[in-house]
Amino acid sequence: MITSQILHTTLKENFGFEKFRSNQEEIINTILNGNDTLAIMPTGGGKSICFQLPALLFPGITIVISPLIALMKDQVDSLKANGIAACFINSTQTETEQQQHIENLKNNKVKLVYIAPESLSYLDNAFSVLTISLIAIDEAHCISSWGHDFRPAYTNLGYLKNRFPSTPILALTATADKATRQDISNQLNLRKPTVFISSFDRKNLSLEVRPALDRVKQIIDFIESKPNDSGIIYCLSRKTTEDLAEKLSKIGINAKAYHAGLDSELRSKTQDEFINDQCQVICATIAFGMGIDKSNVRWVIHYNLPKNIEGYYQEIGRAGRDGLASETILFESYGDLIQLQKFASQGQNAEIQLAKLERMKQYTDALSCRRKILLSYFSEIVTENCGNCDICKNPPAFFDGTIIAQKALSAIIRLQESEPLAVIVDFLRGSKNAYIYEKEYQNLKTYGVGIETSWHDWNQYLIQLINLGYCEIAFHQQNKIKLTPLARKVLFENEKVQLNTVQKANTSKTETKETKTKVVANSLFESLRKLRYEIAKEEDVPAYVIFSDAALRQMEINRPMSEEELIAIDGVGKAKLEKYGDAFIKTIIAFQKDKKVKSKKESSTYKETLALYQEGFSTEEIAAKRKLGLSTIMSHLAKLYSDGTSIDLHQFISKEEVNLIAAARLKLEKPAALKPYFDYFEEKIGYEKIRIGLAIIEKEEANT
Ligand code: ADP
Ligand code: ZN
Repeated sequence: MITSQILHTTLKENFGFEKFRSNQEEIINTILNGNDTLAIMPTGGGKSICFQLPALLFPGITIVISPLIALMKDQVDSLKANGIAACFINSTQTETEQQQHIENLKNNKVKLVYIAPESLSYLDNAFSVLTISLIAIDEAHCISSWGHDFRPAYTNLGYLKNRFPSTPILALTATADKATRQDISNQLNLRKPTVFISSFDRKNLSLEVRPALDRVKQIIDFIESKPNDSGIIYCLSRKTTEDLAEKLSKIGINAKAYHAGLDSELRSKTQDEFINDQCQVICATIAFGMGIDKSNVRWVIHYNLPKNIEGYYQEIGRAGRDGLASETILFESYGDLIQLQKFASQGQNAEIQLAKLERMKQYTDALSCRRKILLSYFSEIVTENCGNCDICKNPPAFFDGTIIAQKALSAIIRLQESEPLAVIVDFLRGSKNAYIYEKEYQNLKTYGVGIETSWHDWNQYLIQLINLGYCEIAFHQQNKIKLTPLARKVLFENEKVQLNTVQKANTSKTETKETKTKVVANSLFESLRKLRYEIAKEEDVPAYVIFSDAALRQMEINRPMSEEELIAIDGVGKAKLEKYGDAFIKTIIAFQKDKKVKSKKESSTYKETLALYQEGFSTEEIAAKRKLGLSTIMSHLAKLYSDGTSIDLHQFISKEEVNLIAAARLKLEKPAALKPYFDYFEEKIGYEKIRIGLAIIEKEEANT
C-alpha cells in the first residue's frame, strides 16, 4: 500500500518539491492502482511528474511516448540531474547506442525510456522480455485529426493496449476540447479511463492587450526594462520574425528569428541558445515552442493577433512554467484582423475558423476581466475577477458616445456603405486627400463633422461600434463598412450609445512606475544565476535543468547556508543537493560575507570619526586628519547621533536654524533627499546644517 506520505517523500527526495500541484497526486494514485488515465492539464501545469514519479515506484520500466526529440533530451537531462536513470531512443542514435539502451532497460538499470511513436519499432524485439509497468503518452492530442499538431504515427499507438492489456496507460495533453478528448480515449483503446481535467488558470501569467501602434518601440521599451529576462515574440509571418529580430539586434538586444523556413541546423542552434540562456529573445512563428520545456521564459508577446484562443493560450502558456510571475502582451491591430479573416474564409473549415477568430476578437475587445473570458472558452466558470489582467488593473471608463456614434453611422450612409474604415475616418475628419477629391466626397453633407477628433480615436470608436453591432465589415466586398439594423435605433430612435474612453496609443494600460522593475545588478539572484549558468555550460544542459528560477528566488530570500537549510528549498532534491549544494552554499556565504564586509567598512569609518571626536578634535580637524570632506564628517556625526550615540549636535546649529528646518520639513512634506531643503533655503543653509538639523528634529519626534 503506497501512502500519501510515501508519495510526498518520493516527490521531495527525487524532484525536490514539497507539495503536489493540483491533480498530480490523484493522477498518480489512479495509475498506481493500474487504471488507464487521461490527464488534461495546461502547459506548465506539471504533467511530467504524473508519470515520472510512479515510474520510480513501479517494479518495471515506464515507456514515455513523446513527439519531439529535443524535448526528450531535455526531459532526460532533467531526470538525470535529479539522479534518476533515464534514456531516450531515437533515429539519430547509432544501432550500438540503441542496443546499449535496450540492454540497460532489460537489466532494469533504467527506469524511464523516452521514444517517439515513429521509433517504437526499435523496441519490438525487446518487448517480450521487458517488464513494462506504465505507458505514458505525452501530447496525446497529436493522435486526433480534430486538433492541431496531428501526427500520423500517433494513430498506430492503439495497438499498445492490446499488446499490454494489463499495463496502465496514461495519456496527457493540454488540449481540452471534448471531441479531441473522446478521440484520444477511443483511438488509444483506453479501458474506462479516469479523466482528470485541471484548471486552466495560470494565475502567474499577467494578461495585457495593447493597440499595435508603434509596436516595435513598445517592444524595445519593454525588453530594455528587463534586460536579463528571456521571452518569445510570436509573429504571423516568417518575414516579420526576421525583420523584427534584425531591428532588435541593431539596438543591441540579443534577439534571433525562428521559423520553419530556416534550415534545421540553424533552427536547432537558435533553439538551444534560447534554452541555454545564451539568446534572450526569439522572434518566431508558431512553429516555435512545442519542443520547449524552458521553465524560465519570463514573457511572451504576440506581435500579431493569434488565429484562435487555443493557440494563443498555448503560446502564452510557455511563459512562467516555474510558477513565477510572468508577463504576456498581445498587440491588437485591425489590419491583422482583416488579414486573418481573409485567410480563414479562404481555408478549410472556413466557418469554424472564422468563428474561432471571432472569439479571439471578443477577447481582445473585452471590457471585463480577460481571464474570465479565456477560462470560459475552456468551459471553466470563474466568478471572481482575476486582478492580474489589464482590465482588472485599469477598468475601462465609459462616456456617452451617442453623438459620436450618430456622426459615424450617418457618414457610413452618406458614403453609401461602400467604403472601408479608413475612408470613413478620412471623410469624418475632412481629409483633403486624392481619393476623397476623386470621389468628390468633399461635397457631401457631414464631410468633416468630426475634425476635432484625432484619426486614431475615430479609428478606435468605429471599431467599438463594429464590436457593439451597429455596423459590420463586409469581408467579401473589399471590407466595406455596412450598417446593421441596430444602427437605425441610434440614428432615428435616439438610442444612447456608451463608448469606452480610447487608450492613448503607445502607452501601456498597466505600466506604472512600480511595475517598471529596476534590475539589481549585484543581487544574490544574479550571483546564483551566474553560478547556474557556469554549471550548465560545463554539464552541457539547459540552465533551468540545474535549478529553476523559482528555486533561485527562494534561495535569495531564505539564504540557506547549510545543507539542511538548502534542502528545505522547493526544487532541491537529494541528488541536486549532493551535486550542486556545495557550490550554491558557498556562493551564498560569500555574498553574505561581502555584504558584512561592506557594512563593517561603513561602521568602522563612523567609529574612526567618533574616536577622534571623543578625543576632542574639532570637526574641521577630523576632516583634515581623515582626508574627508567636512560635510562627510558632519554626516557621520549625524548618523551616530541618530543611532543613539550621545553627541551634542546643538553646538553646530542655532535654535532658529533648527526651527526653520522643521518648518521647511512640514511644508515640503518630509522629502527624502536634502536637495529640496537646500533649494528651499535658496542655498543659504548648507547641507551639513540641514543634515544635523534633521537628525535633531527626527530624534525629538521619535522621543515624543
Ligand atoms: P507541463 O508538461 O504540464 O507543461 P511540466 O511537467 O514541464 O509541465 O512542469 C512545469 C514546471 O513545473 C517544471 O519546471 C516542473 O519542474 C514544475 N513542477 C511540476 N510539479 C511541481 C510541484 N509539485 N511543485 C513545484 N514545481 C513543480
Ligand atoms: Zn482580470
